Amino acid sequence: MSFEAVIGLEIHIQLNTQTKTFCSCSTSFGDKPNSHTCPVCLGLPGALPVFNEQALNKGIMAGLALKCEVAEFSIFARKNYFYPDLPKSYQISQYESPLNKGGYVLINDDEGKKRKVGITRAHLEEDAGKLIHDENPKGPSFVDFNRCGVPLLEIVTEPDIRTPDEAYRFLQAIKEMMQYTEVSECNMEKGELRVDVNISMRNFGDQGFGVKQEIKNMNSFANVKRALEYEVKRQTKILRSGQKLIQQTRLFDVSKSATVPMRMKEEAHDYRYFPDPDLVPVTLTHDQIERIQNSLPELPQNKRERLKKQYNLTDYDVEVLCSSHKLANYFEAAANGYKSPKKIANWILSELIRVLNERRIEIDDCKVTPTKLRDLFDLMDSKVISGKIAKAVFDDMVESGQSASEIVEKKGLKQVTDRAEIVKVIVETIEENEKVVRDYRDGKKKVFGFLVGKVMQKTHGKASPKLVNEILREKLES
Ligand code: ADP
Ligand code: ZN
Ligand code: MG
Repeated sequence: MSFEAVIGLEIHIQLNTQTKTFCSCSTSFGDKPNSHTCPVCLGLPGALPVFNEQALNKGIMAGLALKCEVAEFSIFARKNYFYPDLPKSYQISQYESPLNKGGYVLINDDEGKKRKVGITRAHLEEDAGKLIHDENPKGPSFVDFNRCGVPLLEIVTEPDIRTPDEAYRFLQAIKEMMQYTEVSECNMEKGELRVDVNISMRNFGDQGFGVKQEIKNMNSFANVKRALEYEVKRQTKILRSGQKLIQQTRLFDVSKSATVPMRMKEEAHDYRYFPDPDLVPVTLTHDQIERIQNSLPELPQNKRERLKKQYNLTDYDVEVLCSSHKLANYFEAAANGYKSPKKIANWILSELIRVLNERRIEIDDCKVTPTKLRDLFDLMDSKVISGKIAKAVFDDMVESGQSASEIVEKKGLKQVTDRAEIVKVIVETIEENEKVVRDYRDGKKKVFGFLVGKVMQKTHGKASPKLVNEILREKLES
């Protein structure tokens, strides 16, 4: 008997608003603990929440990108539970009437065919605080409420995903979409994207679902994939042996690369949801939603297809360029109106990505703007510098922020295209390498490259390689 996996994901995305969901505290990350708190986000008695319009607009933007229907009427509910990082003892979320419902995301299946993963809902809620435990297990624990009340979008998928690789690609697609629409940076190290995965197995061809296991709070796509691969094996083994699975919440233990039980279904919370009496329902007009729809930027898949056609790029080029909308925009700004955009793409994929990785910086922090990169290409095209020198100039541009021409001027890197000057160096080289020259003339043509190298060395790499080849051959043959 063969089994197939049924996978559904719940993804929390932190929306990048300036202030929290229901108060005016800053959402700034990494500041002194409890420096961004007020009676509202500390849950003090009598404090009243006021909903942040920016969180709403970003929630709608994300919903539209996910092809959801945006509700003209949605309700905030209280999700009641006790935990030390939750001062109100309830989280404000959306339950029966979420902001976004019924969307989908297109992904490639493992055979490379397109398929839809349904989005059940994408609703707004607030984050909890953060517990900080002492290294000593008997030591104290601390709580930081800076994150408490920060807006989240929870995206819940239909159980439409079938393999760990599909789950990985789906998450990648979600992250790109949230970054393209600029509703979140999705920086996983800062916890701006967290995933709960649900997985069950069933007989291949069955329509019904098996008993699911939930793995909570993953903050790495690679770990999501590993945890799912582990679960596929574990559950298949149990089912093969004729045993039954019981519904469980599990955790992924990175050190063991295995999932371990956390709690059973019977221990599951009963949240006693009810509409928050402090907040009015969110009502939207058709026009409001349409305005945001019209401001939706080009989404990753459309950008890939357009760039590929418009600039004659390969699938690989657009795959990498469009993995970040900032990189894609950088490419377009540099390539726009340029005669061979493919050359610019190649430069970005090799040289630019190399320096970003080496320096661990983002494209925004790179001192070489698209215009400056174009200037460098102009210098190559007009033969002022060779391609090889251009790489060195580029590194200098990254370091100093100076323009290509400034650096070429400063370091005297202009390509030598003056015939007389090159002839002079070649004559010298021939005199200094009598034996090699004799070998060449005796038919050992291989030594030609050696002589070219000598000439380039003497000119510090600045002689035009084309002219050197031409003149040297002339002189040797004569
Ligand atoms: P719960 O009530 O336990 O939270 P939900 O019905 O809300 O469960 O579903 C939560 C997530 O689990 C969704 O992403 C959904 O697609 C997925 N899911 C539901 N049932 C299954 C199943 N049998 N196997 C795998 N995933 C499932
Ligand atoms: Zn506050
Ligand atoms: Mg649920």
